[in-house]
This record gives sequence, C-alpha cells and structure tokens, in this order.
Amino acid sequence: MTSAATVAPSELAHVPGDIRHDWSRQEVEALFDLPFNDLLFRAQSIHRRYFDPNRVQVSTLLSIKTGACPEDCAYCPQSTRYDTGLEAEKLMAVEKVLEQARAARESGATRFCMGAAWRSPKQRDMPYVVAMVKGVRELGLESCMTLGMLSGEQAQELAEAGLDYYNHNLDTSPEFYRDIITTRTYQDRLQTLEHVRGAGMKVCSGGIVGMGEQVSDRAGLLQQLANLPQHPESVPVNMLVRVEGTPLAEQADLDPFEFIRTIAVARIMMPASHVRLSAGREEMNEQMHALAYFAGANSIFYGEKLLTTPNPRANSDMALFARLGIEPEQRQVASAPAVPSPQFYDATAGTAGSARGVH
Ligand code: SF4
Repeated sequence: MTSAATVAPSELAHVPGDIRHDWSRQEVEALFDLPFNDLLFRAQSIHRRYFDPNRVQVSTLLSIKTGACPEDCAYCPQSTRYDTGLEAEKLMAVEKVLEQARAARESGATRFCMGAAWRSPKQRDMPYVVAMVKGVRELGLESCMTLGMLSGEQAQELAEAGLDYYNHNLDTSPEFYRDIITTRTYQDRLQTLEHVRGAGMKVCSGGIVGMGEQVSDRAGLLQQLANLPQHPESVPVNMLVRVEGTPLAEQADLDPFEFIRTIAVARIMMPASHVRLSAGREEMNEQMHALAYFAGANSIFYGEKLLTTPNPRANSDMALFARLGIEPEQRQVASAPAVPSPQFYDATAGTAGSARGVH
C-alpha cells in the first residue's frame, strides 16, 4: 500500500484533475494502491470540479438484434459459440424500434441506446439502422448505437444520420485481452474508436471487471482509455455477469471494493467523462450503488427490460436517488459543450444493465 503522504514524482508535474493523456502504468497502479478512503476522497474532489455530484445521467438500452453473434467474447451469452439458451432474434423493424423509443421518452429517458449483436453491420443493414437513428433524433432523444466494428465509411454514414454516441468497449487490458476474445484484436477495437472519432461522433467505451484479470489489467484498461487522443465521453464500467453456458460462468467473485476502486480511478483519470454503471448492477446492493456514486459514477443504464415489462430496478433506482438526494441529469442542450468545463460544486449547490454484454 502507498501511504497517503506518498506522492509519485510524476504527480508533482500535474494538478490532480487535469485532463491528461500521458498516464504511465505505474502511476495508475499507484492510484489503485492508495488506501481506500484516500482514493475515494481524491475521486470525489475531482468529480466536483467537473460535475454536480448529485446528478446522475440515465440511459435506456434496447437490443435491436439479439444473439447469434459469431464472435467469441467469453462473457457474452449472445455469442453463437456458447449454449446459454438465449433465443436469437432478427433485426427489429424500424417502426417497432421507434415505438420503444417513444415509450422511453415518455418514461423520462433522454438518451436511447440501440445494440445489435453483430461482428460488424453488413451493408444491407445500414439503411435500417440509419432510419432508426433519424427516427430517434426526430423524437428529440439523444441516440447511441453499439453494432460491433465499424469501417470509416460506416462511421461516416451513421454520423451523417445524426448518431450522437457510438459504444465500443476495449473490455480489458491489452495483455489480458487474448484470454477473453480471440476473434478480433485489440487493435481492431482501437481502430473502430478511431473511425467513430474521425466521423465526429462521441465515444462510449469502457470495459468489464471481474473476469479473472489482475489489478494491473484493470489499470491497463483505464490507461488505454485515458491515453486515447480524446477521452471517451462515456466510460461504462461493467461488473461481469456470470451466465451459465459461457466460459466465465464459474468465475470467482470480485471483491466489491475492487469494483469501487476501478470507478474511482476511472473518475480521477477521465475527470470530465461520464462514468457509467451498467452490467452487473442487479447484484449490487444500495450501499454499493451509493459508494459507486461517491467514487464518481454519474451515469446508469436502466437495462433493456424497462421498455417492455414493469421494471422493479427502475423503481428502486429512483427510490435510491430520492434517499440519496440525487436527481436524474437532464439532457444537455444542443449548444452545450460535449466536455463540461471545470466547475466547483459543494454539497449544497446541487439539487438533488443489461446482463448481455454487447461489444
Ligand atoms: S460482446 Fe458483442 S461481439 Fe462479443 S459476442 Fe457479445 S454481441 Fe458478439
């Protein structure tokens, strides 16, 4: 453990909370090594420079094409390689997707995310997904998609349709990656992120913890994300959901404090990004959610069931928000900057997942 008073020489060159893209692995590991209270204090202090600590952004997710994915991501029940009993579904009709988007808007969602279990979209699918993006935009919702790997042209096409965000996760560190996925490389993933940025869209990219990786792998994942030329605007930190039939079904539990540490380190390294809790929330109790918000998480996925069935999760999230004095973040106005400028919030200034891994 690094003592609270220890300051790494490299830290002397930086003001904590500055936007940086030059993190060394050693520095990131030193953050993970801090005493828990020191780490959380540091993360919360930085969080307040950029965000209202009492607001959490809420997104909904709809699976527009489920299962039968040819990739072999070891955590994912949508892979065709694992027998998980998941029923595959074809690409949904555009009108059906827009119906769900309308329902999401009525239930207060400000961003509508659409996920398809593809290696990458086929050209024949593009007109449909483009129509979905346009329709969701016309409803006044922010749009987000996760469709697998994108070529530069596909990214351009989606950007021209008005897609706000594209999700593509790095999943884990480059070193541990081959233990989890063999059908696409780390470089493939980085290239898709480059195409998304090149087309002018916002990036949503994070990873999964609890897959048997070491602390150095969690550090490696965050180092990769933070050292991108621009930080992802959204950084989902997922806790592995062990699904029977997948290779990770028997994976041992991760110490919950390691999950909270990962959130805190993500907050410190990418201070202006939304750090999102998504998969694995079902297994986290209220205290764990509250600690995650304190560590700097400020976005949640309601999960895809919200739109079609009564969602106890949604109700309990709102009840917890009320108990903690948290309010859902409103949609940013079109002229607002994508990356918020530093601001200071004090305790009184503010007002108040999906189990299916997709890409
Ligand atoms: S995570 Fe995405 S790419 Fe990997 S198997 Fe699941 S749906 Fe396919």
